[in-house]
Amino acid sequence: MTLTSRTPGVETLGLSYSRRIFVNRSIDLDEIDAIGFDMDYTLCRYKPDLEALATKLAIGHLVKRGYPAALSEITFDPTWGIRGLVIDTAKGNVVKMDAHRHVTRAWHGLTPISDDQRRETYASDPPRLSAERWAMMDTLFSTPESFLYCHMVDLIERTSGKPMDTPETRRLYADIRYCIDLVHRDDSLKSAVREDLERYIDFDPHLATALHRLRSAGKKLFVLTNSDMSYTEHVMTYLLDGALSGYRTWHDYFDAVWVTARKPRFFEVNEEPFRLGDKSFDQGSRQYLEKHIGVAGDKVLYVGDHIYGDVLKSRSTTGWRTALIMPEVESELSSLESEGDALARRTELEEERFELEGALASAELSLRAARRAERRNGSEEESDEPIDPALAALSAEEIVSEREKLRSWVVELRTRLDENATEVLRLTAQIEQHFNPNWGQLLNERHKHSLFGNQMKSYACLYTSRVSNLVAYSPRHTFQPPRDLLPHERVLRYVSQ
Ligand code: IMP
Ligand code: MG
Repeated sequence: MTLTSRTPGVETLGLSYSRRIFVNRSIDLDEIDAIGFDMDYTLCRYKPDLEALATKLAIGHLVKRGYPAALSEITFDPTWGIRGLVIDTAKGNVVKMDAHRHVTRAWHGLTPISDDQRRETYASDPPRLSAERWAMMDTLFSTPESFLYCHMVDLIERTSGKPMDTPETRRLYADIRYCIDLVHRDDSLKSAVREDLERYIDFDPHLATALHRLRSAGKKLFVLTNSDMSYTEHVMTYLLDGALSGYRTWHDYFDAVWVTARKPRFFEVNEEPFRLGDKSFDQGSRQYLEKHIGVAGDKVLYVGDHIYGDVLKSRSTTGWRTALIMPEVESELSSLESEGDALARRTELEEERFELEGALASAELSLRAARRAERRNGSEEESDEPIDPALAALSAEEIVSEREKLRSWVVELRTRLDENATEVLRLTAQIEQHFNPNWGQLLNERHKHSLFGNQMKSYACLYTSRVSNLVAYSPRHTFQPPRDLLPHERVLRYVSQ
């Protein structure tokens, strides 16, 4: 299966399908007067080396706090940390939830939790995620946390030979959180990045042009980042200085640069910022930013990677329109492409299963009726049990033969259902291996969206893998979502092909 763009004009600009901007809610760029950008993981694409470095530095602190020295041998593996996972700090598990907050997969350490055990542990009401027990992995910065949690629970329980209790699993998460926080705050992570920008940052040669096109169309642009000015200066200089001749430094691309913003707090308080320069500010809140750029509410589009701090909070408290940067879209689409045939076959098998289940229910009903009729024929006693009119017209031998045919049919349907289930399981394992062997698809879970997929759909107006994808769209483009089909309208999928 090959994915092709169906948007006129997009292919002509050489934009592959995985680089498209996808739409949950329509946005007319003509109506947008200001576009703001988060920096880390948005304007600045980090390589997986950054997560590996954060993990290594955090392990150093954890070992100093008394955790086993054997931890130092562990290296970061991205298959253990995807966005949207939730750590159950009370049970020592890492779980994935669906859109309704049902726990649909769980790992304890490096061991998958069986379906029965998972149901037993999590069958009650969907968890209240704001409770202290649950820790959400909202950004790529937090993927080392779920990685470390799985590996450390495994290591600690293997070494001690006994399961950890709740105070221990809670303390473990608190210690991991503390150490990850520390590597961000003590400058160890950032100084390593500053010293080798090329190793940690995935330089995007189209970023400058994308920003330039928006500016030329009269949009006000701003940076709004939680990073401080010194780090922002280093990173932005690397990304933009010298890229286009009309711009002296990276500052010239923007009408405002807002650092140490403390999002999501930035969207909730009303506080005056510290002024760092003509158009550079530190801390403060969105009222001051809106006043400075002279644009507010739904005339602002904010582009960020943090589903909670950048997207959910800004949308719910400011009315800003939002775009989520999701680098994972590129690999998810490449897996969809390579597994397209398997996915289509699985859908066919699932549809076939509904038909087989319907046929089995009706065959079992007919078999019961035939057995009743046969019993009545062989019995002396009168029975007032109603008899199927079709059977009533048959002779005793014909009923026996009908019953035998139905019995074979029921056996055949059950065999076909078993084969169907085995094949669906085989295909699912094959498909998930391509997405993520431990956690499956990022945005889907079983037949539903994952918790992360649901948040993304609910709060991000647009989503795309990188900021520079804007380069292929006119600054006056109207982004329209695909038609939202109701279940009974799915037939249109076939009609329109
Ligand atoms: P933004 O994505 O541009 O808003 O910036 C994210 C900033 O938050 C970066 O400077 C990160 O180093 C920092 N950061 C991410 N996670 C943590 C943490 O756990 N503690 C402290 N700072 C963090
Ligand atoms: Mg960010």
